Amino acid sequence: MPELPEVEVVRRGLESHALRQQIESVEVRHPRAVRRHAAGPADLAGRLAGRAFSGAFRRGKYLWLTLAEKNPDEAADSVLVHLGMSGQMLVQAADAPMEPHARIVVTLDGGTHLRFVDQRTFGGWLVAPLVPAVPDSAGELLPQPIVHIARDPLDPLFDERAVIEVIRRKPSEIKRILLDQSVISGVGNIYADEALWRAGIHGNRSARSLSRAKIRTILFAAREVMIEALAQGGTSFDALYVNVNGQSGFFDRSLRVYGLEGHPCERCGTPIVREKFTNRSSHFCPICQRKR
Ligand SMILES: [Zn+2]
Repeated sequence: MPELPEVEVVRRGLESHALRQQIESVEVRHPRAVRRHAAGPADLAGRLAGRAFSGAFRRGKYLWLTLAEKNPDEAADSVLVHLGMSGQMLVQAADAPMEPHARIVVTLDGGTHLRFVDQRTFGGWLVAPLVPAVPDSAGELLPQPIVHIARDPLDPLFDERAVIEVIRRKPSEIKRILLDQSVISGVGNIYADEALWRAGIHGNRSARSLSRAKIRTILFAAREVMIEALAQGGTSFDALYVNVNGQSGFFDRSLRVYGLEGHPCERCGTPIVREKFTNRSSHFCPICQRKR
């Protein structure tokens, strides 16, 4: 799954290459890609045609393009993009060969296509109204289906103090809480493991057993590892190619525990351990991150 840094790279690419061009037409090449849009493919295409994308936004792992209003009375709306496991947003010359797994093709009047390519078809688009975020909107609008998604650690309005208090009140393991998108968004399985290793805390520790300072250390580590990944990924796409691929990941080199079972811990040399965690895995150093 793409996590926050990959999604942010895509957002920046879209912001540079897909905005303020009139949408001439939309072709839905596979109905599964719009299954979350209840009114169907023709409705989605009709809502986009003649308009333009006015902004590219992200909160946590969620990505959306706002649509310029046709007339001022109309409610503001957006295209919410689920990248799923393998979704890519490609900005291509309109005459470039079509990717075999292109699911949605938007023709822009600048002579380019915005193509949603998704081999495994877990991803998709839907058009959603923009509504005030809850609980702390600060005047911001979010696509309705993600209105409860909390701010991520890279958000300038991320309220660390408040988030630490919320975490401390949860009767749960710290890793589970880090993955709860209504408490803090954008931290997936990879960054949770990386942040916990950096902070030297095992993911099964009860949040209630952790001091505010320890939680602050974890949040700092999460922000740090995502900023480092972003610094690597942000330079890896060329002018007319906006791309995310949740499988390969362009920042593998910066990982210290995730996917590194058996490799020596960078700090103490102890082999990294992998354990089952819900339907996924947790990776940790058994010495640096002691279980309680
Ligand atoms: Zn270690």
